[in-house]
Amino acid sequence: MQSMKKRILIAGISHETNTYCQGETETSDFYQMRGDTIFRAAGTESSLGGALATCTELDFEIVPVLIVSAQPSGTINFETYVAFKQEILAGIDSAKPIDGVFLELHGAGVVNGIEDLEGDLAQAVRDKVGEAVPITASFDLHGNVTQRMADALDGVFACHQYPHVDMHLRAEEAIRLISRMLAENFRPVIHVETVPMLMPTTTTFEGIGQRMLEFILEIEQTPGVIDVSWFHGFPYTDISHVGSHVVVTTESNHELAEDVARRAATHLWQQRESFRPLSLSAEAAVNQAMLSDSGTVVINETSDNCGGGSPGDGTHLLKAMLDAELDNACFGFIVDSSVAEQAHAAGVGATISVELGAKTDNLHGDPLCLTVYVKALHDGRLIMQAMGKASPLNIGKMARLICNGMDIVVASRRSQTFDPGPFEAVGIDVRKYSIVALKSSNHFRAGFSDVATQIVTADPPGLTTHHIEVFDRLNCDWPMWPVDENANYD
Ligand SMILES: [Zn+2]
Repeated sequence: MQSMKKRILIAGISHETNTYCQGETETSDFYQMRGDTIFRAAGTESSLGGALATCTELDFEIVPVLIVSAQPSGTINFETYVAFKQEILAGIDSAKPIDGVFLELHGAGVVNGIEDLEGDLAQAVRDKVGEAVPITASFDLHGNVTQRMADALDGVFACHQYPHVDMHLRAEEAIRLISRMLAENFRPVIHVETVPMLMPTTTTFEGIGQRMLEFILEIEQTPGVIDVSWFHGFPYTDISHVGSHVVVTTESNHELAEDVARRAATHLWQQRESFRPLSLSAEAAVNQAMLSDSGTVVINETSDNCGGGSPGDGTHLLKAMLDAELDNACFGFIVDSSVAEQAHAAGVGATISVELGAKTDNLHGDPLCLTVYVKALHDGRLIMQAMGKASPLNIGKMARLICNGMDIVVASRRSQTFDPGPFEAVGIDVRKYSIVALKSSNHFRAGFSDVATQIVTADPPGLTTHHIEVFDRLNCDWPMWPVDENANYD
């Protein structure tokens, strides 16, 4: 007897490509889930976790094909991308008949030779399944999107929040739209409106980011509108369609989609000066943190955020903290697999000489020659506590080193610090410290909201600096705010 369940195919390629990073992102850099291993994401507050939960709730049959993702890094190798894409297309062929497709995407994927990974993939999937099958997708709000991509999809759902604490909820909406389309037999239309802004990393938990999001959520209530996604965009990329984007999905009315998108885009453009970030040197950030006399000040080194493609081994902030001879401070973490290895070889209780950090390039400071005491070791296998809650995170071998009374946490694999997990793993209770330093732009805000009495952002040189003017733009043909006075949106 044939099953009456609707069959929803799940696939995706997620990458935030920082085209200014050295080297290409290769197949082995991707975390790859095939077939039933995709169900491992069940129960997590990730996009995939949200999609799986909603399919289960709606009694859909899930057809898992391929989900791959990598830490933000350089341009994706062409053969790597093509092989993943072909695997997805072959998976669609062998899974037919299917009733709907859910794609887990990022939005800022760039392949060597293909500027718009998501557009290319969405179009290929559309060509494969035909016009009649609903395809919706979830995205990171740091995507740069094209109308070509939107035209291949039936629904675009970027997370609203930065920190991205709502990814599972947005994937849920994407699955529910497939369900509605199947039940009501209609065809949504999507409009992409691009604003020439290189938006600095801006949290939606407070300030201008929060106010803009409130505006977006209000305008989303317009009758006939299914969704308004505000893509902040990803500025650390040299492509033609870089910008900030408002993407509106409506039930069937194209003029409405365009009108709502333009209203939101105009509002965003008018507010642009409020997004201009304050940029403190490492020394200035440390000095400001030292002025606080109560609670825990968190200093985030935004310019060396692995979550935007930086190496995570920069020493600018750590050096400023050591130079300031802080007496109740911890730093976590810096990525240096050779120092972590050295500490593991020496063991807890050993005193060793290390050359810490700054091994990737010359932008992120000089290696620090330190004598350190090995206080604790860990395998680096953690569970995320706030954003992406319940997802596994493997940052490789870790060590807690003590240098002149300051705790320094070292890890082996690139990641930003999302929550206090990396500190707790090596026995550090961040609440007991006056200054806690970490590398992240905004995601840490979800995990440190009950820890930080004050947040100070440090912006020394780095691949994810707010000084966006230092990057060449050879492929973007129009003037962009804030680097060009002639930038205009009308
Ligand atoms: Zn993001």
